Amino acid sequence: MRPNTMNKYGAVLDDFGMETMLDKLMEDFIRPMSKVFFPEVGGSTLDAHHGFVLEYGMDRDVDLGFHVDDSEVTLNVCLGKQFSGGELFFRGVRCEKHVNTETQSEEVFDYAHLPGRAVLHRGRHRHGARATISGNRINLLLWCRSSVFRELRKYQKDFSSYCTECQREKKERQRQSVAAIKLELLKREGETAA
Ligand SMILES: [Zn+2]
Repeated sequence: MRPNTMNKYGAVLDDFGMETMLDKLMEDFIRPMSKVFFPEVGGSTLDAHHGFVLEYGMDRDVDLGFHVDDSEVTLNVCLGKQFSGGELFFRGVRCEKHVNTETQSEEVFDYAHLPGRAVLHRGRHRHGARATISGNRINLLLWCRSSVFRELRKYQKDFSSYCTECQREKKERQRQSVAAIKLELLKREGETAA
């Protein structure tokens, strides 16, 4: 089985006996951290995971296009070994509706992964990986999900708690309504004066 729909080289770890260990990793480490850093995407109620390894290199998958994960929180561990290239690039958190909207300059974040280091990010944080130009890069991914968050999301309309585009739209609506009120007050003032 392919590790996910985008990668060809790798393996699903849950399939050969690592499910219990990865569940424990999620419960004991990822959930407590996500409760603090990502409460708005169900960080405190993570209850399921998909764990896999990916292999990049000239004779493996070379790069990974711009995407969001099917997860609430993703743990990405760089296992090694020796490689160059393969930088991760992040471009802002988006809800379903806004996933293809423009990146704002303050959302541009690039990160060179180092063996032994891990990155924890929201699944809806748009990202990708640049080409691995030499050697082999092996990563462990743990997609953590919250069934509570997924159920609630069905009835939710406002995603401004995490989607930067929703936040921008909300601010714009507020600005417009303040401007309208100001205009109305000025008009009344004018009428009184007349
Ligand atoms: Zn949005």
